[in-house]
Amino acid sequence: MNARPASDGRGGVLDAAPPVVLEVDLGPGVRAGFTTRTGGVSPEPWDSLNLGLNVTDDATRVRSNRARASTWLEAPVAFSSQVHGTDVVRLGSPPRDADGAPVDSVGEADAIVATVPGVGLGVLVADCVPVLLADAAAGVVGVAHAGRRGLAHGVVPAVLEEMRAAGARVGNVRAAVGPSACGRCYEVPATMRDDVALARPATRSTTSWGTPALDLPAGVVADLVAAGVGDVVHVDACTIEDDRFFSHRRAARGGTTTGRFAGLVALSVA
Ligand SMILES: [Zn+2]
Repeated sequence: MNARPASDGRGGVLDAAPPVVLEVDLGPGVRAGFTTRTGGVSPEPWDSLNLGLNVTDDATRVRSNRARASTWLEAPVAFSSQVHGTDVVRLGSPPRDADGAPVDSVGEADAIVATVPGVGLGVLVADCVPVLLADAAAGVVGVAHAGRRGLAHGVVPAVLEEMRAAGARVGNVRAAVGPSACGRCYEVPATMRDDVALARPATRSTTSWGTPALDLPAGVVADLVAAGVGDVVHVDACTIEDDRFFSHRRAARGGTTTGRFAGLVALSVA
């Protein structure tokens, strides 16, 4: 029904459709969701809502896509430089550079916590598990990037501890575990499965074709439940199987790179 979109001269697209975001309910006064590939300006192989800066896409397009995500969230989104660790950054205001523009990164960390309305938090993924957290009553929100290493080393308890320090009650926290590689697809060597399962037994899995695998979202859910999180929603979509999302593994199988989608959360400005 639409004419072909005009090019912006960078291979990007002008007048792109708004972002398609899977909204999740983390409580009153909290806006949260998981972006899809749809609604950005980047061309193949990052088409189109690529939010990751380190995947060889043009930075101007990525910042434009991040602005689109911020518009959806109704708050400027802060992202960290994710390093598969367990460090947590706490933000008290939307981070800006000297010119007032959003910063590309708030530093090396795999989780971010905020207690101020209008501070948007984002976590970038393409098979790893994006985790969104909120204690709506206390006014504390958080995001975590749970890949194989971060999960095994405890990024989920780390972000919950920082939320508790910021005033949250873990029993009041509602969590959303987002689209990620599922335990029937995420094949790994047997030794790697054993190593991760030693730290996080719920991750032990087998692919649909019978080889060793890891179920990272199951490991995240188990960590959340063990910590006492009262309400866990699992958006049960597999990034490798579902091409609405970016998937590093699916792209690598096709010999190409790909983009990053995001989990987003913010306390609404009343
Ligand atoms: Zn799968």
